Amino acid sequence: MAPRLVVVGGGISGLAAAWAARRLARERGDALEVIVLERDAEVGGKARSIERDGWLVEAGPSGFLGGRPAMERLVEEAGLSPDAIPAGVASRRRFIYRAGRMREIVPNPFALVRHGILSVRGMGRLLVEPFVRARRDGGDEGVFDFAARRLGSEVADRMVRPMALGIFAGDARRLSLAAAFPRMAALEREHGSIIRGMMARRGRTSSGTLTSFRHGMQSLPLALAQGGAFTVRRNARVEAIRRATASSMPTQPASASPSWEVVVEGDGIPIRADGVILAGEPWAMAALVRPLDHAAAAELEAIPCPPIAVVALGFAPGATERIPAGFGVLIARDEGFRMLGNLWESHLYPGRSPEGHVLVRAILGGAVDPDIGALSDDAVLQLAREEVTRLYGITDPPVHVRIERVARAIPQYVLGHGERVARIERALACFPHLDATGFGLRGVAFADAASDGVTVGERMAARLLGMPTSIDAAAAIAG
Ligand SMILES: Cc1cc2nc3c(=O)[nH]c(=O)nc-3n(C[C@H](O)[C@H](O)[C@H](O)COP(=O)(O)OP(=O)(O)OC[C@H]3O[C@@H](n4cnc5c(N)ncnc54)[C@H](O)[C@@H]3O)c2cc1C
Repeated sequence: MAPRLVVVGGGISGLAAAWAARRLARERGDALEVIVLERDAEVGGKARSIERDGWLVEAGPSGFLGGRPAMERLVEEAGLSPDAIPAGVASRRRFIYRAGRMREIVPNPFALVRHGILSVRGMGRLLVEPFVRARRDGGDEGVFDFAARRLGSEVADRMVRPMALGIFAGDARRLSLAAAFPRMAALEREHGSIIRGMMARRGRTSSGTLTSFRHGMQSLPLALAQGGAFTVRRNARVEAIRRATASSMPTQPASASPSWEVVVEGDGIPIRADGVILAGEPWAMAALVRPLDHAAAAELEAIPCPPIAVVALGFAPGATERIPAGFGVLIARDEGFRMLGNLWESHLYPGRSPEGHVLVRAILGGAVDPDIGALSDDAVLQLAREEVTRLYGITDPPVHVRIERVARAIPQYVLGHGERVARIERALACFPHLDATGFGLRGVAFADAASDGVTVGERMAARLLGMPTSIDAAAAIAG
């Protein structure tokens, strides 16, 4: 009888895991049944693309960085390559709002001074970075402290803090460098300097092209769910997972000795499974892990996921000239705005707004302003409208408005995150055929979540099909 794998969560990581598990089984000519259980009425999780009246609003991610082979293979296999659209050249222009106006970030220290982002002194400190002694003790360090140590406090304050807002909606003082920006940590470790490392790697590695899909980011989860040789159940919230006992539930045999019973809300009979992959948000996985291992559940629960509000405002053609051609703007914290930044969606990809109109997405909340979660939708809308019109000096009201809220949004990889994830991994490894993926663990970006899902899906399939995995091999060597 074919072994059965249940994946809890139909976001990109869970669907990538299901896809990769089935792919491995098919390549080996083995049978493997895979079921994805999704709490919501549709798949995609944070990736939700809403098309209405000529506007395409992303509730979550608006693009992903190319250059991840596992992700690119998924896109190709899901048949989405023709729909993939690279961001326009304008996306290379990024801005910071500080000292009362918008300033373009340019990869040239002298221009940073010219644009009013750094002082001459700050630029001088930046230029001595290659001569700053490398720290190689392997200890975790905050993103802000790392940047201040290597690049100077002005760069840390004026550039790295906004960058942490842009990627994590996070606080650079609390984020772990090793977990949140592992490539940056590797530059110091391997080259002794960020600047020397970047120069050494120039031409050898590419940071990838920012990409989306014609119908938005949800296209990929939708295509995987539709084209995957696995079952997807929507509106199927998993209430519990528990170890199967020999005598329990004889009506639904999956294989000779299933390990797990998966309890779906409203179902009379649990689903028996040989393997389970948890692919929910950290707090959602915590609820399922708690009866199995209290300490691991507490670790998952301790990963902060502050609220985010996304307000999309569409303006008529008259406003276009007020908004620079570019990716968007990050707003320094002490400038009198609550918005963390804006993305200029209609400058990035075609088809985000009706012809000639402009779509701005304002992001509010995150680790630096969790109180946004306590405001009503009306209050957040009012705030975003007032701040967006003030920022650009737009006088006409928006012609399209949409608000999307996520009560527990982007996981914060705070100091100690790497060790926390290692403890969670060790705890789950004590159970037969139980694993976890998702953007709360080993990479917060969409392409990282997809790639991690592929790794975890393949690893689980290999185990269920009796193939040796690298982890099993390491355990055997360790005795
Ligand atoms: C506002 C916002 C903007 C973002 N912008 C970007 C961006 O521009 N670029 C980028 O690369 N990344 C971005 N991200 C991150 C990106 O969205 C994530 O990396 C990715 O979508 C996470 O996918 P996931 O599958 O790990 O988690 P999720 O998308 O959260 O999926 C988890 C799924 O599990 C389901 N689930 C949970 N518990 C259960 C249960 N008990 N039973 C059944 N189902 C369950 C949930 O319903 C959900 O569908 C953004 C995120 C947010 C919130």
